[in-house]
Amino acid sequence: MKKPGFLSVIVAAMTFASALYFYSPEYASGLTGFGGIDTHMHLFSISGKRQDHNPNRGGSGSFRSPHTKTSSFTRTKQPPSLLRPSNAPEEEGYTNAVGPLLKLMDKRNVAKAMVMPPPQYRGQPGAYDYKALLPAIQAGGGRLLLVAGGGSLNPLIMGTNADKVAPQDIETFKKKAELIIKSGAVAFGEMTALHVCMSERHHYMAAPPDHPLFLLLADIAASNGMPIDLHMEAVTEKMATPQKLLEACSKNPHTLPPTIPGLERLLQHNRNAIFVWQHIGWDNTGHMTTELLNRLLHEHPNLFLSIRVLGWQQTRLEGRFRNTITNPQGRIRPEWKQLLSDHPGRFMVGGDAFVGETGFKNKSSESFKESWRAINNLLEPARSKVSWKTAEQVYKVHK
Ligand SMILES: [Zn+2]
Ligand SMILES: [Zn+2]
Repeated sequence: MKKPGFLSVIVAAMTFASALYFYSPEYASGLTGFGGIDTHMHLFSISGKRQDHNPNRGGSGSFRSPHTKTSSFTRTKQPPSLLRPSNAPEEEGYTNAVGPLLKLMDKRNVAKAMVMPPPQYRGQPGAYDYKALLPAIQAGGGRLLLVAGGGSLNPLIMGTNADKVAPQDIETFKKKAELIIKSGAVAFGEMTALHVCMSERHHYMAAPPDHPLFLLLADIAASNGMPIDLHMEAVTEKMATPQKLLEACSKNPHTLPPTIPGLERLLQHNRNAIFVWQHIGWDNTGHMTTELLNRLLHEHPNLFLSIRVLGWQQTRLEGRFRNTITNPQGRIRPEWKQLLSDHPGRFMVGGDAFVGETGFKNKSSESFKESWRAINNLLEPARSKVSWKTAEQVYKVHK
């Protein structure tokens, strides 16, 4: 027998429950006044010929043979200009996403956001460089800031064997970095040293964090006062790949290389190079503990962390994600509160959502909403530091 209205009662109940969940007096009071800076956002293009997350094989700076001289990333020798007209379909797609992104930022009281190409590897189908984002940055009216290198420098690192870096590779890398500096980018990114694959349409990429080209990037970044945005799984020593990652994507290898020792060598290499390790709180290996982060923050003054809080559905699935920042009720766990208050000037927020002309892509909205919700619930002075003051200082921007 049909039960009219049963489904709508369930939907209404769920909507009410989630409204209660998202409401809190601290959050409501945080809606006026401070205005955050999000250090890590992406745009995606629906209308363009490029499709994000095309199937591919992934790349590795450790294991792939030295690259050929041709590159799909050098379509033009012209220096990028913010006045360049939007004339390619994918550029239009990114520009069309600006309105929705600004609206979503308004909703969470985010004043400015850094927008960047995700980390890519040489020959990745649908790869794009930061130049395709320039019209969108311009359309942001000063609220969107460019971070560049994920589509130009990262493929060079992924495509160059760490033991066989030729003088020509160094020259090419320097030239591409120079173009980024001239483009008005506030940081280099999104770079990766270990990026695991989450679905068959996603990518596995790995290169040692102390790869000679990462060391070179540290020197370039330091002498130009630009931080480096880094995506990297925490792996303290070589480990068997967690079963959930093997099941999620056949491109993940059976073992994951260590990243933390290499990161520490990279941090020691040039203390004037600032690294912003992104996606803190999204732990796919089980190694991203508050103990490890606390030690790294104490020992490496040039390391900064940007948090990405998981959605409430994910945190409710106990055991699937370890070392989460919030508990299933959406509250920051005591050990993370302690870490944030012990190092308030070392944390930022990186929502890590993909926004297109129709709004958020898939479930990427959750990390943006949850990250800002959690930070808005912090007490002052930690809240101001984490939400915008540290970003202003590290990226040398003003909101
Ligand atoms: Zn990203
Ligand atoms: Zn990332």
